[in-house]
Amino acid sequence: MNNATDTATPVTAAPATATPVTVIGLGLMGQALAATFLKAGHPTTVWNRTTAKADQLVADGAQLAPTIGHAVKASPLTIVCVTDYRAMYELLDAGDVERVELDGTMLVNLTSGSSAQAREAARWAERRGARYLDGAIMAIPSAIGTAEAVILHSGPQSDFEAHESALAALGTVSHLGADHGLASLYDVAGLAMMWSVLNAWLQGTALLRTAGVDAATYAPFARQIAAGVAEWLPGHAEEIDSRSFAAEVAALDTHARSIDHLIEESEAVGVNAELPRLIKAMADRSLAAGHGGEQYSVLIEEFEKPRTD
Ligand code: NAP
Repeated sequence: MNNATDTATPVTAAPATATPVTVIGLGLMGQALAATFLKAGHPTTVWNRTTAKADQLVADGAQLAPTIGHAVKASPLTIVCVTDYRAMYELLDAGDVERVELDGTMLVNLTSGSSAQAREAARWAERRGARYLDGAIMAIPSAIGTAEAVILHSGPQSDFEAHESALAALGTVSHLGADHGLASLYDVAGLAMMWSVLNAWLQGTALLRTAGVDAATYAPFARQIAAGVAEWLPGHAEEIDSRSFAAEVAALDTHARSIDHLIEESEAVGVNAELPRLIKAMADRSLAAGHGGEQYSVLIEEFEKPRTD
């Protein structure tokens, strides 16, 4: 996730004829989304189970719809941002008599969930006659409306393009592909990257603090290493996509000896060695499968399968 700053750049000026937008769900994130649409000049209709959360938005010019059905009808584009998919279905799919009319609506669901939930929601929306994009917000509420707010979308490209100018009021928006599950998968892949970098940094910081080096002193060096390693990714990606792992730089055998060294040093100075031991266990399985002479990226084979033993 991104850290917002007060100086972050707003992403859009108000278009001359801004699309009316509806926001369903006015929790911390939904309020930020609705406030941003308002600021960008979009006629904004809102609805929330707890009506009082709309008060400030209404004071700022939003229309509070009397029912969720009226809210959906009020705009050609409806953004849903509630706790989870169950809450979305409770709101939009409850009962036959008072079921919200979705026919012809463009729904953009920015509620966090899994790729399977996103694909299932796309099938549900299709059955209900609605267009559907799934999305993932990689930002905190205060960043919404600035370029730092990364918002991922997946689903039909034509639907994204039709509403891109409105969605762009919220941040840096992108379309990842027609598969509705992609936004969610990119979201968790981003988290995997984030925690791996942070955990590696914490491991190194713990090691260096045993020698009296504080975190701030180590941070610039760690940042340089992380940036350097990031440069390797396109090359490793080619190896993975072509399934060709011939060692050109350093073989997995060599890496495995270095991981042992990291484990030994961690144990010797009394810091936690669980993380390097986990990496070494995966490398050992790959070595046992005969990949010691290949590039580090061959470990993708370990990541691609669940642990069975
Ligand atoms: P929140 O402040 O807890 O708000 C939750 C919203 O969901 C409220 O509008 C709540 O309505 C509604 N809701 C929950 N259960 C409901 C139900 N059964 N029926 C009707 N409405 C229900 O959460 P949030 O921070 O806005 O997050 C919303 C979504 O954005 C989540 O999927 C979250 O993962 C995602 N997100 C949040 C952040 C963040 O930093 N906040 C960042 C990225 C993504 P009431 O007001 O009536 O309770």
